[in-house]
Order: sequence, then C-alpha cells, then structure tokens
Amino acid sequence: MKTEWNEECAVVGVYNAQNAASIAYYSLFAMQHRGQEASGIATSNGEKIITIKKNGLVTEVFCDETLNKLKGFSAVGHNRYSTAGNDSIADAQPLFARYDLGEIAIVHNGNLTNARQIRDELIKEGAIFQSYMDTENLIHLIARAKQENLIDRIKEAVLRLKGAFCFVILSRKKMFVIRDRYGFRPLSLGEIVNSDGSKGYVVASETCAFDLVGAKYLRDVEPGEMLIFSKNGMESQSIMLPNPHPCVFEYIYFARPDSRVFGRLVYDIRKNMGEELARENPVEADLVIPVPDSGVAAALGYSRQSGIPFELGIIRNHYVGRTFIEPTQQIRELKVKLKLNPIRELIENKRVVVIDDSVVRGTTSRQIVKILRDCGAKEIHMKISSPPTISPCYYGVDTPSREDLISAKMSHQEVCQFIGADSLSFLSVEGLKRSIGVENYQYCQACFDGKYIV
Ligand code: SF4
Repeated sequence: MKTEWNEECAVVGVYNAQNAASIAYYSLFAMQHRGQEASGIATSNGEKIITIKKNGLVTEVFCDETLNKLKGFSAVGHNRYSTAGNDSIADAQPLFARYDLGEIAIVHNGNLTNARQIRDELIKEGAIFQSYMDTENLIHLIARAKQENLIDRIKEAVLRLKGAFCFVILSRKKMFVIRDRYGFRPLSLGEIVNSDGSKGYVVASETCAFDLVGAKYLRDVEPGEMLIFSKNGMESQSIMLPNPHPCVFEYIYFARPDSRVFGRLVYDIRKNMGEELARENPVEADLVIPVPDSGVAAALGYSRQSGIPFELGIIRNHYVGRTFIEPTQQIRELKVKLKLNPIRELIENKRVVVIDDSVVRGTTSRQIVKILRDCGAKEIHMKISSPPTISPCYYGVDTPSREDLISAKMSHQEVCQFIGADSLSFLSVEGLKRSIGVENYQYCQACFDGKYIV
C-alpha cells in the first residue's frame, strides 16, 4: 500500500469490435488502480461520437443503461487521476470536440511539460479553454493545424508537444494511437476476435485489461510510434525519433503485478527486487511481512532469498477510500489505521522485516511502524524495494513536491529515526537494475537521481 504516490490514469482504445463500449468498460475496470476520480467512454458508430463520463469509479459511472447508449464499433476510454487540471467533471476524459473536419474524442495518459507555454500561446491567439487539462491543448492544435487531413494534423500537433503522453484519438471512422518518443508510460497493443471471426484491436495502458476482455497481447506501442486504425486495418508510422526511457516506477508500484509492462511481467520483477534487497541488506529476524498490496511480491522474494518465513502480518481493508483523497495530515494518518490492521498473534515478541515499495513523505511508514510496535513487535526492520525518492515526477505521476520528499531533506539515519524503525534499508540503484535484468538498461529513474530527460 503506498498512500503517497498517486497513479497516473489509464487509457484504452478499441477498434472494429462488435461490443466496443463493453470491451472499453471491462478494460477500464481492470485498470481502476491507475485512477479513481472519474471514468469515461466515447464510442463511434461511423456517423457520430457519443461520450459519457462522470466522477467516480468505473462501476459507479456506467450501468447497463449507459453502456447501451454507447453504440459503435470503436471506443476510447479513460480512468482519471488528476495529474494536471482539477477535479471537476470538465476535466474528466474523453475530451470531445466538433471542428471543421467533424468530431473527435481524445484520451491521454501522461503529462505535457510545455503545456503552459502552448496554452498561453493559444489563448493569445483567441482560443477558449473549457478545462484545466493539458490534454485540451491537443484538440486546439489539431483544429488549428494547417494540414488538410486528420492524420497530418495530428502529426503536426503532436510534434509541438513535450513530455509524457499516450494518446488515443477517436474520429468517426478511424482511431489513432500515439506514444511519446521516450515511452514514459506503458501502452500495449492486443487483438480480439469477434463472434463472426473478424479481428479487432485493443490498446491499453496495461495488459491486465487484455486478460479480462480476452484480447491477445501482440506487442507494445513503440516510443515515437503512431498507429492508425481504419477499415483497411492497422498502419504503423514512426513519427518521432525514439529515445526510450520508460518509467521504472511502473515496476516498483504503479502497474498491477499481473501486467506485462515494457515487455516484462511486473510480478517477476518485484520478486527479484525482494531477492536483491535480501542480498544487499541481510538481517536476523523471525518474520518477513509485506505492506499490502504492493509489497507482497517483493516480500516473497526477500523471504525466499533470506530463508526467513513469510507471513501476511498486516491485513488490508480493501473497502476503505484511498487515503490521498483527504489532503490533511491528520486524516491521512487516521486512514492508514483504517486500512491496515496487523495480526497481533503473528507479530508479538517477533523480530519483523517489513517490506514496502517506497518511502515518500515518511508519514505512512511511521504509522506502520507504530501499529506494529503497538502489537508488541520486538524489532522492526523496514526494507524498501526501491532506492530513496529524492525528486518529484513531471511525467504524469502526481508526486509531492521536493520539500515533502523525506529522503530529499533528511539523511538515511534521520529518516529511520523519523519513522521509528530499528533499521531502514533501501534497494540500491544497481540492485534495481539487476532486478530488471535487461542488457541495455535505459529507464527513467529521475525520482531517484533527479536526472530528467525532458
Ligand atoms: S520521474 Fe519517476 S515516476 Fe516519473 S516517469 Fe521517471 S521514474 Fe517514473
């Protein structure tokens, strides 16, 4: 459980499917962990685009009646966590617009680093914005682009953008998918087979969506690639020089462990992280326990490597609202207690290794140590399956500012004292690299080293 990193939206696109809205719905349901503020789907039947979006979880926004209104062979969908914009419904996606070439609906995962500059320019030229979202820039740029056809207009518009973006754009007849040249956020391509034997396509932020809707994973959308779906099938074009720097934090926390992200199964990598952590930071203890849910796979790895028994010593209540919804410190701390309950019978008089994925503000770790002490733990050794977080993210993840990142302002020893553990260790950057195990390691890890590629 990490209560201080906030996920960064999910997108889905469906093309040439008999039940496009329902495939989009189940895909969004599978990716609910990436955003819980609002959900929306737009579909096209070739004549017009219909959009339904609302604040709330996927199951709160859609029902049989609303899904029945979303007719069509193609769909785009979005789960929102607000990384840019505010919480109003105007900032939910898909963003829909009518312009001189017809109708368009856009969904976006990521964060544009030059959004402010482009918006100021557009406003000076007379553009009127309906939302605070950086995504709205793209609609204006497409509508104002000089090119004749939509494909060229999208290319002209996208080439002005900087930062992290996975866009899925629906026109009445076609669907367009674009991933930024760095590939910060994941985006995968899958294939579905309709009941008449015809083939359709699904693109989604995570492959766990494919499992639910019965799509076959084909490949990742490449950094800098544009996919164009039409009645003629799928066409791929490389529109930006690729310079892959995918987000390493997808492996540590954001993605579901059953997803294949950047070509690797997240569960395996998290277990490797736990094993590396055990090699780098051995300790004598009676139990290894995860902070659920994101610490579970790493704790299994730590236990396997160290030989210390694994127990689910802390039980998570899944029915409590997410702690970050309430910003005040007091409520945040109360909610940790509401969410996590240790099993006293397992913890009492034990030397416990606690595995969590990261330390951000330090307040959650402090609460966890406190509830374990209250249960009579003899020693508490906090082990973190990532390096210390010292810099915020500008690529689509809502992180606290630098002054709120505890490892940016305190020494390792001071952090340990603040959280009240007997010891505290982090996975090293080298250990992280070994856990991922690729030959040409080229991931974005700016939140650990402050080196921003854009
Ligand atoms: S800064 Fe951190 S969270 Fe943001 S993209 Fe890079 S690795 Fe991911």
